[in-house]
Amino acid sequence: MTIHTRPCAAFLSHSAALSGAELLIARVAAACTRTTPVVVLGEHGPLEGVLADRGVPCAVVELDRSVQQHTVGTTSGVVAKTAATLRSTRELARALRRLGVDVVVTHSAKAHVYGGLTGRIAGIPVVAHVHDVVGTAGSSRANALLLRAALAALPRAVIANSQTTAASLGRSARRASVIGCPTVVPDVVPPRTGTTPTIGMVGRLTPWKGQDVALRAFAAARTAGLDPAARLRLVGAAHFGDDEQFAAALRHLADALGVAEVVDFRGHRDDVVAEIAACDLVVHASTRPEPFGQVVVEAMALGRPVVAADAGGPAEVVTDGEDGVLVPPGDVGSLAAAMTRLMADREARARLADNGRRSVVRYALPHVVGMIEDVLLATAR
Ligand code: UDP
Repeated sequence: MTIHTRPCAAFLSHSAALSGAELLIARVAAACTRTTPVVVLGEHGPLEGVLADRGVPCAVVELDRSVQQHTVGTTSGVVAKTAATLRSTRELARALRRLGVDVVVTHSAKAHVYGGLTGRIAGIPVVAHVHDVVGTAGSSRANALLLRAALAALPRAVIANSQTTAASLGRSARRASVIGCPTVVPDVVPPRTGTTPTIGMVGRLTPWKGQDVALRAFAAARTAGLDPAARLRLVGAAHFGDDEQFAAALRHLADALGVAEVVDFRGHRDDVVAEIAACDLVVHASTRPEPFGQVVVEAMALGRPVVAADAGGPAEVVTDGEDGVLVPPGDVGSLAAAMTRLMADREARARLADNGRRSVVRYALPHVVGMIEDVLLATAR
């Protein structure tokens, strides 16, 4: 067993994709100062490269395929999945003991279940760091019940990334510590690169992120007086399940709306700062309540004005008209009006951006990681 001078925290995720929660693990683990982090993934994937670049140790304990699968399905499927979960927990418990782990931090819905069970089996306390609103459209009622029960029974402490997420946790809602997602707030705003008027949107391509809403709003803004030279920059790729189909549908939609020539599909970019630096305005258009919405805070930290959907995390972060603009989720007309108005008003953009930078200091990386480590240290054995 490895002996550590500082308590060892194992951050667990079933997924090694590059979506927000996984990137947050890399950001937090690399900034820990009072714990020794190790990331334990349930599969191989691109996150391993990001962790290696940041000098964060990583181990992969591959989960049985049936644990990785999304749906539970039939009764025999449930039995098979339960058996596979128990097999996975035994292997994981051995790995956690070998690594000398003092606290397990579970970061994904599946990890809350198999990691929570493993912590119990191995006698290692667990913190569930919840990044998703439980019980949203897209997850079944049975999954939501199972997850809420697991969160009530297994972890010793719970962190939720927003009030919205905390409120969705059932019995665990009241004991959850609400800690927003950390972001790097640079001392100096990155200078604007390029000269083309640009509206940006950053986020993985998936229907509820609302890239279709942004495309429609952009097309409507063009007919309502937006500078015809303005471009829409969509940063992000499909990472999960059927999202490739949505990505293809977005390109067809851009064609159908007659804006394909002025829309840039940038795909997944590792350097999001450079992408945001090329934008005059950053929009967020999720059609269901975003658990936190790291992209909104990132744009604010980089001194770019934001327009965000008025629900979930962004509605907790942004004060409408002060440090950003909020529009009803899915409302193409309101988003188009905000695009048109703000792209024509440099002073309004500068005022929102300045105020935004000031507000997001509360999410600065060292400060937030300090709060997370407080919870981990209070829980570690
Ligand atoms: N991101 C990235 N490259 C991209 C698109 C997104 O690195 O091409 C990052 C983005 O900067 C943010 C995260 O992915 O840190 C997305 O987090 P968010 O909470 O906004 O959404 P999630 O994916 O968790 O639903």
